[in-house]
This record gives sequence, C-alpha cells and structure tokens, in this order.
Amino acid sequence: MKDPATLLQKLYELKQNDIDPRSGRLFTYIYETGINELRELALEAYRLFANTNALDPTVFRSAFFFERELVKNAMRLTNAPNDAVGTVTYGGTESIMLAVKAARYKFRKKYGFGKIPRVLVPVTGHPSIRKAAHYLGLKLEYLKVERDDKKLDVDDLSEKLDKDVALVVVSAPNFPYGTIDPVKEAAEIARERGVPVHVDACVGGYILPYMGRLGYHPPLFDFRVDGVESISMDLHKYGYSPKGASIILFRAPEYKEGTIFVDLRWPGYPLINNTVLSSRSIAPLAAAWTTQAYLGEEGYLKLARDLLEARDDIYRGLSRLGFSSLAPIESPLLSLSLDSENDVFKYYSWMSLKGWVVGLQPKVKDLAPYNIHLTIMPIHRKVYKEFLKDSEEAINMPPPRELIDLLDLVQKDPMSAAQRIGETALDGILIAKVLESIPKDYAEDLARMLAVEVYRR
Ligand SMILES: *Cc1c(COP(=O)(O)O)cnc(C)c1O
Repeated sequence: MKDPATLLQKLYELKQNDIDPRSGRLFTYIYETGINELRELALEAYRLFANTNALDPTVFRSAFFFERELVKNAMRLTNAPNDAVGTVTYGGTESIMLAVKAARYKFRKKYGFGKIPRVLVPVTGHPSIRKAAHYLGLKLEYLKVERDDKKLDVDDLSEKLDKDVALVVVSAPNFPYGTIDPVKEAAEIARERGVPVHVDACVGGYILPYMGRLGYHPPLFDFRVDGVESISMDLHKYGYSPKGASIILFRAPEYKEGTIFVDLRWPGYPLINNTVLSSRSIAPLAAAWTTQAYLGEEGYLKLARDLLEARDDIYRGLSRLGFSSLAPIESPLLSLSLDSENDVFKYYSWMSLKGWVVGLQPKVKDLAPYNIHLTIMPIHRKVYKEFLKDSEEAINMPPPRELIDLLDLVQKDPMSAAQRIGETALDGILIAKVLESIPKDYAEDLARMLAVEVYRR
C-alpha cells in the first residue's frame, strides 16, 4: 500500500491548480460568504457525515433530522401551507427532475398514458428543465420573453397553453439576466386551465426572501401565489452550503407521491426512493444544516446586505467604464454589455488573464448581444475595489495578441479555429462535430465563444 503522506501531497498539488473560492475571484460556481469560521465548520460537518448513506434513514437516523429541519426552513421562507411537503436533493437539476416527474404523474392520472405531455418554459429557463423533459419523455416548448426586461411574455403563454401541457415553469430569477418572471400572471393563466406551475427559485430561493426583508420588495414568487404548486431552491447557492444540496417543495402531498419510486419485487432489500439518487452521503445535508444553524436569520440578512452593497458598488463602477445592464436589476445577478462586442471579448480575456472568473454569455437574436455575467456573492464586498481597478485596466488595454489571432481565425475558418481551441483546451474533435452539425452563423458564434473561453484554462 502507498504512503499516505505521498498521496496527500499529490492531492494538495491537484488542489493548487484549482481556483480558491475563498479568494473572491469567482463570479460564478461557488457561493462564498467570506466567513472562514463558517467554511471550516461546514466542512467539518461534511467530513463527520461523509461515510454514511441516506438510502436507509432507519439505519442512519440523522438523515431524518437534517431533512426535516432543512425542509421546514425552506417552507418558512417560501410561505408554504402547513401541509406542504419537501425533499432534500443533491442539486437544482435533481429538484427540477422531481418537479417534472410529479407533474407527469398528475397528468397521467388525469389523461392516462396516451398523450405526450408538454412542458412550457421561457427561453431563459435553465437547461435542467429541458434535461428533465428529455429524461422523462415530455415535450419541451419554449416561450418568448420580453426584449426589454427578459421576462416571460404572458401572451405567448396564454396562446401555447392547452390541454396537453403538464407543467409551466417560470424562474425567480432566471440565471442569464437575473429578472423574475411574472409568476402571479403566469399562475393565474395556468390555474384557470388546471395546469400546475413550478417556480425555479434555484438561485433565488435563499436570497429573494431576505431581499424582501431588507425592503427591496421582489415581486411575489412563492406559495402565496395560487397556482404555484412546486418550488426548487438550492442550498448550495445562496444557502451558502457546500455543494450537493437543494430542496424541492410541493404545495400538496399528492405531488410528492409522484416522485416516489418503490421496488419491493426484486429479490434484494426493499427499495424506496423519493429522490433520483439512491445511495448517497448524508454529508451535504449535515453541512447545509450546520450552515443554516450557524448563520441564522440574522446571518443571512447580513450577508444579503453585504452582497447587495457589493452589487451596487460593482454596477456603479462598471457603468462608469461603459457597461450597461441588459435588464432591470432585480437580484444579485448582473448581465452587462458594452457598445462593441469585441470590447466584451477583450474585457473577458484580460480579466481571465488577471485571474478573475467572470461569465461570458452569447448573443441571442432579438434579445441580447454578447455580455458579461456576474453572480455577486458576499465575499465580493471585500474584493470589489481590486475588481474594479482590474476592470478599468482591462477596458483600457489593447486586446491580448492571442485573442486577436484567434478571433481572426474564427472569422476566416471557424472549423480550424475550433480545432486549435480544442488542442489547447477542450475536446477538439467533439467541438468540430458540433460545429459541423449546426448552421454556419451559429457555428461562428460558438467558435467565437470558445475562442474567448480558452483564456480561462
Ligand atoms: C443552478 C440553477 C439550476 C440547476 O442547478 P444545479 O444545482 O446546477 O443542478 C436550475 N435553475 C437555475 C435558475 C439555476 O441557477
């Protein structure tokens, strides 16, 4: 057997190549508070419960406790009725999978198995909704959003909503532009026709309620709205838990019934699942509970205040550099454009070279130009000055040589550009295949995105 010290050294080496979320340099992926004591505590909880299995809570009884407490708090935050029910899942994708499965169950109870049910979602909806429809055999149909505010166009919903629709999904907020769909209007239309609405509050579930308490008054998106039958909210986003924790809530137990999978017929142990995953560690639940208990209501409020201040400072600073928001600012998510797309690429490239991880979003016909996406977190309160200083430099510098070469090549020959990108960063053959299979103007856009993406690696 190998020497543990050598192996540990290898692990530390690998970790060195990963970006450190505590540095505050990430504007996506990890939701960092900047409270080291909390991070240590949550990771200790993670370690303590790492080698457990939530599959059988009669053996690992702590799973009951953590789940009950986490669901109770989520219900409180979303003003759920007393008989609402919920499940802790591994992530937003799994929560949404269960919401879609519950809707399919309800649909089949009503109409049998003859019809293929449809799911309606604004084009800004998260891909996990499409993924769930794909996995579960439902047909996904996109709804238009308004050009100005990037919110669901309710007339389009009204038009497309018929008896084949099993579920309408709206976002609070959507990830790309950070705006909150008109949940109330959508739910009214859907309710009239007996169709449940799922609110994807994966990113908003643990921040919008606190923004409300701080006087920002986000529009109603929770169970106070009749017709909202389920809500997904990610503990591992603004709940500040380590990865692996999300919640799906249902207004009524009949929906949860549709998420349960039982097999008592096979020769092994009785299998009863209310999640997609079966064997899984209790660690994320333990860490999420510990995080919530540590912060409490006051902690979450303080963090919300911190991050909103950071958001406003960053937005003000970037506005001065020429950025403008693509949509009204209703959440901690910013999508910002510049007059010229090439300047967006240049900014993104230099910021990556300076060690900042910001998002780059593609242009979408009739909706948005290329833009920079920032997910603001409490840690950014501590680093925003440095971020703005680097931003100013990035805006005022000429584009890096490598970017110019690549963008040139993209224009002349997207395929070989993709190949070159592939060689340096990604799977070149796969990308070439994808590019061949889509229309040329899309291929160029994609190649351009990938070219810029290279700087992150
Ligand atoms: C993050 C996110 C999801 C999916 O969550 P995962 O945890 O990555 O599976 C769904 N919807 C929105 C709006 C999100 O931001």
